[in-house]
Formats: sequence, structure tokens, C-alpha cells
Amino acid sequence: MIPLKSKAEIALMREAGRIVARVHQALRDMIKPGITTAQLNARADEIIRAHGATPTFLGYPHTGKNDFPYSVCISVNEVIVHGFPSGRWLEPGDIIAVDVGATYRGWVGDSAWTYPVGQIDNEAERLLSATEGALWAGIAQAHVGNRVSDISRAIEQYVNQRGFTVVREYTGHGVGRKMHEEPQVLNYVPRGARRSPEIKVGMTFALEPMVNIGTWRTRTLSDGWTVVTADGKRSAHFEHTIAIMENGPEILTVL
Ligand code: MG
Ligand code: MG
Repeated sequence: MIPLKSKAEIALMREAGRIVARVHQALRDMIKPGITTAQLNARADEIIRAHGATPTFLGYPHTGKNDFPYSVCISVNEVIVHGFPSGRWLEPGDIIAVDVGATYRGWVGDSAWTYPVGQIDNEAERLLSATEGALWAGIAQAHVGNRVSDISRAIEQYVNQRGFTVVREYTGHGVGRKMHEEPQVLNYVPRGARRSPEIKVGMTFALEPMVNIGTWRTRTLSDGWTVVTADGKRSAHFEHTIAIMENGPEILTVL
């Protein structure tokens, strides 16, 4: 069952999304060589709470593992997703993915963005542009008349045409009262897949391509959370929460 949201519920999700966007706006300005990812986490937590929301990721449960211990996920270079903020200083040339979730009056906003630290090399530039472009290509397909797999296909093709690979073990998702709801929104179309659900007005999705320079395969570190590329090459992640409206997708995680 894919929950459909009413206009009033989407209005609340818009508020949650705006808080997430405020965090990104603030962190984007702080990200430079010499700052630690723990400082970014602390600032994000402060902004989320100042707006009467709670950080959705903090204490997020994980079957058989510890709950997620931080307010945001910060994934640097070869880390794909679910990285822990730490005392590590950012260095020029790093790429840093910040994933932010905020719960406001029971509704979740979820958005990730990958930022360059100082000057980055050409390959990293192309990776960021391919991953962000794949997100927009997916959003463009998120409308009534299409199926969820049309989003998946657009993302996969955009990435493959640029010579990068799409991560398969982690996916986009429905979002609303919970961070992860039906349906799963894959970033690729598996061979022989069953027909995916039709997209309907009132559905809300978090679309989130995770794109690698090398292999799509991943590995999880012993902390139980941090997901890295199997070959140690770099990865990027862009995500928006969107709502399906009569006239097309509306991005909720914006100011
Ligand atoms: Mg996210
Ligand atoms: Mg998400």
C-alpha cells in the first residue's frame, strides 16, 4: 500500500522540507577546508531544533545494529551513504555528501547534497554533475501517467551515459509519516522486474541517486553503518523529497 497524502498533509511536509533546505543552505556556506564534519553535524542539529523539528536520523534503528548515533549523515569521498560525522578536517579536493532528515509535526523531509571542498578535480566535477543531473532526470519522470520504474530508468540511463555506475543496494523511497515508506524507488531497472506501481497524485517520494566512479558494489564498515565503495573510488549522492501534484512533481525540500 502506497499512502496518498492530502493537500493539508503535503503542506506539513513542505514545512519539514523547508527546514531541511535551511540546513543545507547553512552548511553549504560552512563547508571549506579545515572545518570538521562534527561541527557540521552540530550546526545541523541546532538549526533543525530551532525550527521545532527533530533530526530524523538520530536514533534511527537498524536491524541487529546500533541506532544511528548522529543528527545527519556525512559521507566523504569513497563513503557512499550513512557516514558518521567526526573530528576529521575537510581538505581541499574532498567531496562531501550531507544527508539531512527533519521530522516536523510528525512529517518527514529528507534531502542529500554533495558539496565540493575547495577546488576539486575534473573527475569529481563530472561525478557531481552526473549525479545531480540524474536526480533531475528522475524528478522529470515523476508525474501521473508514468510508473515508478520510469523514474528508475531515467536515473540509470543518465548515469550510464556519463560512464558512471548506480549503487543498487540502497534506493529511493516513499516518505511521509515515516522516513521509509512504500514504494522503493530503485535507481536502476532490474532485468525481468515486475511492473512497478503507477504514480498517483498525493504520492510523496525521496528520490536519491547514489553514483560511483568505479564499481557499483559496496561494503559496510565495522561500525555497522558506514557504506563505502568496494573499490575505494569516490561516490556522490543527491536527494530531494517530492510530492506528486496534478500538474507534476513539486520539490518539498526547498526554501
Ligand atoms: Mg536522505
Ligand atoms: Mg532518503
